[in-house]
Amino acid sequence: MLEKCEGIVIRTTDYAETNKIVTLFTREWGKVGVMARGAKKPNSRLTAISQPFTHGYYLVQKGRGLGSLQQGEMITSMRSIREDIFLTAYASYVIDLTDKSTEEKKPNPFLFELLLQTLNYMNEGYDLDILVNIYEMKMLNVLGLYPVLDHCTVCGSTEGNFSFSIREGGLICHRCIEKDPYHYKVSSATIRLLRIFYMLDLSRLGNISVKDSTKAELKQVINAYYDEYSGLNLKTKKFLNQLDRFKDKL
Ligand SMILES: [Zn+2]
Repeated sequence: MLEKCEGIVIRTTDYAETNKIVTLFTREWGKVGVMARGAKKPNSRLTAISQPFTHGYYLVQKGRGLGSLQQGEMITSMRSIREDIFLTAYASYVIDLTDKSTEEKKPNPFLFELLLQTLNYMNEGYDLDILVNIYEMKMLNVLGLYPVLDHCTVCGSTEGNFSFSIREGGLICHRCIEKDPYHYKVSSATIRLLRIFYMLDLSRLGNISVKDSTKAELKQVINAYYDEYSGLNLKTKKFLNQLDRFKDKL
């Protein structure tokens, strides 16, 4: 039976001489692998639409095992992402995070939309660090993580000066701060952005401009939280951190 889906290519693996197994993150079915016969040949009609990051409509012959990709219609090639090493690195991390946090054939239209918007924003030249941080904050619920960002995790107070406690799993107020000697002292701007990123409807992202010092704090807190709770250890993330250090030297 031929079925149509809207998807993003998140991974490809060579299979035999001329074929590729293409992993799509789709709006309708979640993550699925499909066999793209002949996609390694340069003149195949499947070559262009099975490139990583491509967003399109895909026609799949569904069977008992892997479906077979019959044809596709490109919506966006995400060309800017593919042609820039920094953009590729950021987009690869976002895709890897999605891949490692989801199971096959579990539809999640919300996550599909989030991934698509994030890649589109990257492709259009929005701030990459901010986009990655927003994506990370929004992925927390997908990972089953619920940081406390609207009150102190210890006393419950909504008033005061807040720091971030990895151990307590969220904000900690100035009165409770000795409960966690390893808390991250961060600016109120950072606290506000953590909340906004967690709650924000990404389609409403305007021109966000964030100070470098705030960006550094955001990155530090989010990385520490992920290290402690996500159970993920992604090579793409390590590579991003290396790129970061490299950028500082430029
Ligand atoms: Zn407190």
